[in-house]
Formats: sequence, C-alpha cells, structure tokens
Amino acid sequence: MEPNEKYIAAENRYADMDKNYNRCGKSGVLLPKVSLGMWHNFGANDPYERSKAITHYAFDHGITHFDLANNYGPPYGSAEETMGRLMEQDFRPYRDELFISSKAGYDMWEGPYGEWGSRKYLMASLDQSLRRMKLDYVDLFYSHRFDPKTPIEETLQALVDIVRQGKALYVGISNWPLEPLKAAVPYLKERDVPLLIYQGRLNMLNREPIETGILEFCRQEGVGFIAYSPLAQGLLTERYLDGIPADSRMAKEHFLKSERRTPELLAYLRQLEAQGKAHGRTIAQEALAWILAQEGVTSVLVGASSVKQLQDNLAII
Ligand code: NDP
Repeated sequence: MEPNEKYIAAENRYADMDKNYNRCGKSGVLLPKVSLGMWHNFGANDPYERSKAITHYAFDHGITHFDLANNYGPPYGSAEETMGRLMEQDFRPYRDELFISSKAGYDMWEGPYGEWGSRKYLMASLDQSLRRMKLDYVDLFYSHRFDPKTPIEETLQALVDIVRQGKALYVGISNWPLEPLKAAVPYLKERDVPLLIYQGRLNMLNREPIETGILEFCRQEGVGFIAYSPLAQGLLTERYLDGIPADSRMAKEHFLKSERRTPELLAYLRQLEAQGKAHGRTIAQEALAWILAQEGVTSVLVGASSVKQLQDNLAII
C-alpha cells in the first residue's frame, strides 16, 4: 500500500466466521481466537509503516480485537497514540467492527494518582487513553492489576461508573489473584456490569491460571479468558533456537532476559519442534494450539514484530 493510499479492508475478512471466533464467556460478544496485543512494537520508537502493515493485516484477516494499555509504548502512551493515528487515517469507517481495549493499573504518571486502583487514577487514565486513541469509548476497560491498599469496592465501582458514563462498553480484570476475583464477580453482576473477561498470562511455560484455579473459576462463572504472552514473549517460537537475533525482544535485555535461553529451554523447543512437525505446525502454532485447547480460553493475545510472524500465528485457526 502506498503511503497516501486510502485503506480499504479486505472484503473476505469474515469468510471463516464460524471457525475464527469464540464466544466470550456467557456474553453476547464474539472475540477472534487470535487477538493482537500492542504492548511492544507499536510505540513511538517503532516504524509507523510497520505498525500499520501489521494492524492492517490483522484486520484484513478477521482480527477484530486490539489490546492496549495506558503505558504501552515506549514511551508510555505512544502505542495508544499509534492507535489514534490508525483510527484517524484508516480504521474510523470500521469503528463498529473493532473491539478495542485499554487498561490502567501500572505506573503511568508521577505523583500519588498515577498508578494502582483508585477511582481518581482509573477515571483520569481512561480519559487520557480515549484522547490518545481518538475514541469516544473503548469496548473494554481493564483494571490492569489488583491494588491491595485500595478498597476493592472503590476500584470496582469506578469500573461500573465508567460503563455508566458510556466510556467503556464492558469491563475486564487482569492479573488479579483468585480471592479478590471471586469478590469482584458478584459485585459487578449485582450492578448489571458483569465481568466480561479475565486477562492472564498463560502459555506452555507458565500455567499459573490453571494451577491457581483462575481459568476454571472464569469458566464456571461465564467469564471469558484471554491469554497474554501466549508465546512467552517469543521464547516459544523458532526465534531463539540458534542464537539471539539483534532485532529481537531478548536482545533488548529488558522484559525478556537472555538468561531465559537455557539448555533446558532449547531442549524443550527441539521437542516441540519435532511434535509440531508431526502436526504440520511451527513451534509457535504448537504453543498457541495448546492454549486454545484449554477449556474456558476465549482468545490468545499475541504480539508480533512483523506481518510474517502474525501470519504464522494466524495459521493456527
Ligand atoms: P507473545 O508471547 O505473543 O510474544 C510476542 C513476541 O514473540 C513478538 O514480539 C515476537 O518477538 C515473537 N513472535 C511472535 N510471533 C512469532 C512467530 N510466529 N515467530 C517468531 N517469533 C514470534 O506476546 P507478548 O508478550 O507480546 O504479549 C502479547 C500481548 O499481551 C501484549 O501486546 C499485551 O496486549 C498483552 N499483555 C498483557 C499483560 C498484562 O499485564 N495484562 C502483560 C503482557 C502482555 P520479537 O519482537 O522479538 O520479534
């Protein structure tokens, strides 16, 4: 696509509706089995043309769900600004076909009101996110982490009120432990803002939501579950089999440290590779298929630094 050419979404993007979407818990919402996360690769330091190519490819192939948070970038806020630019230039005509989420919980701005779970922070943060993304509302707004020092009712009531104000259509919870999650579900249900979805880290190397019972609880309660870092930030792919590529997340030594590339991991990957070959799948596809096979999982929330990676991941469905 030329830089000034108008974006027109692929006509056949919903050709495989029955196959590509899962119902989110007991709600009316269908989410794509593979959703796109914008934590990395969509900030101000990343080439905009590449962000555009990846998001276009995603939407052209039926990925309707894009996941953001206030502090995605770097710098903080800039992934949402990228989404705002995409909205203005390409996606506005398709707004009603998109399911866009954002979150607040981690450190975002200085001072006492820039993180955690107070009403003050959540409300202000969502207003900022809407401005950056050039949206009137988000489809889904999350509490990004549990705040043990704020009364749980304050955080939950802020989520309820955000929906009442029309700034979000649904609410979600991410990274909360099981006990407060158990309190959140009835609180929200009683106020007619049922919890749509839980976002937690789940992949073949980290099975915490299964071990803690969170996935099972969500399933029983009719709450959807979306698995973040389903490829363990790239570990569960071919990326690191033969070394650490210069353009990889591990080479940055920040969120993914090279110490994770152990002989045990490489042996595990070789085994997955062989298993994948038997199924006609890549390592990444094998890892995503494992998650999607878990009962209660609605979607895998992948990241991608190229169209080719996304293409590989999408081939799973
Ligand atoms: P993944 O586990 O999917 O890792 C993505 C990275 O893996 C890519 O950036 C790329 O690495 C590599 N990769 C992806 N596909 C392939 C492939 N087919 N072949 C080779 N390498 C591949 O997810 P993320 O950790 O990026 O998280 C996904 C999303 O989950 C985030 O964008 C965010 O929306 C959400 N999230 C939520 C959190 C929360 O607290 N709620 C926390 C973390 C994530 P490289 O860049 O090196 O090319």
